[in-house]
Amino acid sequence: MNLPGYAFLDGKIVPYAEAKVGVLTHGLNYGTAVFGGIRAYWNDDEGELFVFRPVDHFRRFLQSAGLLRMELPYTAEALATCTLELLRSEGLKTDCYIRPLAFYGDEIIGVRLHNLTPRLAITSVPFGLYVENDENAHCTISSWRRVDDNMIPARGKIAGAYVNSALAKSDAQLSGFDEAIVLSQDGHVSEGSAENIFLVRNGVAVTPPISENILEGITRRTIINLLKDELGMEVQERSVDRTELFLADEVFFTGTGVQVIAVTRIDHRPIGTGKMGNVVRQIRELYFNIVRGRVVRYRPHCVPVYNSGTGVKSENTGTFARSSRK
Ligand code: PMP
Repeated sequence: MNLPGYAFLDGKIVPYAEAKVGVLTHGLNYGTAVFGGIRAYWNDDEGELFVFRPVDHFRRFLQSAGLLRMELPYTAEALATCTLELLRSEGLKTDCYIRPLAFYGDEIIGVRLHNLTPRLAITSVPFGLYVENDENAHCTISSWRRVDDNMIPARGKIAGAYVNSALAKSDAQLSGFDEAIVLSQDGHVSEGSAENIFLVRNGVAVTPPISENILEGITRRTIINLLKDELGMEVQERSVDRTELFLADEVFFTGTGVQVIAVTRIDHRPIGTGKMGNVVRQIRELYFNIVRGRVVRYRPHCVPVYNSGTGVKSENTGTFARSSRK
């Protein structure tokens, strides 16, 4: 991966080479950091780079920071505006990934969350597919369990908790699978290593609820709305058993990094026909058009980088009126 040219660090844009921390940094030693993952998509026809739902991402980011008692002097809108400035400094004209990171920067010994000083960095890099096999993924049910809310809050993107995801992902990939599906402590389906999961059975879409130790995915919310408003489907947010996945007609993952991935086999069992199904095919097409700013109705989700006017407003978020198709 090519390193970025710049970083937004503690309130200003600096050359990336100057955005350094010492090895004693609290966040590095104890995992006391939170992060985000946002995508920006290049639209060749318009010559514009669109950031997808930045205000929603930064809202979750600030909530994650709050879980670690970090007080950051920014609103979500202000952080989104700083991100546009950073992207303009990089001058990227390709799809990219944006990584906000808030970490306790104190270089001290001592595990705690109080009397520490948070620091904030944002970087961006060109980015393609996160999981190569996104049309035909073969997944395994991980032997690792998802972190529980009473251990490390799973609904926050807390750096230290991602060791859980890394254990599941590496074990899956080193065993020849594309991704891991992780169960909660009580054995229900939670999510993938870095993505939310959906199944479709008898025309109904089902996804685990937020009380199942999932990350409250921005893509998950987008896809729930698309399934209901554009495909006219019933969507249930409820607990899912492992074997319900095996009997599903379709299974798919959603996330900023992975976008929408068709899971066509789980632990060597074909899901449905064993090929990408109709619902996931339609959702992928819709999603890829929406994120590139090609669907007028969803355009407020896409914030332009190069023609952004005065900055990002809170309207660049939320839900939309139901489609006339329903
Ligand atoms: N679950 C986990 C554990 C993740 O890391 C991610 C990626 N942020 C997701 C789900 C998907 O969330 P989002 O759609 O907001 O990217």
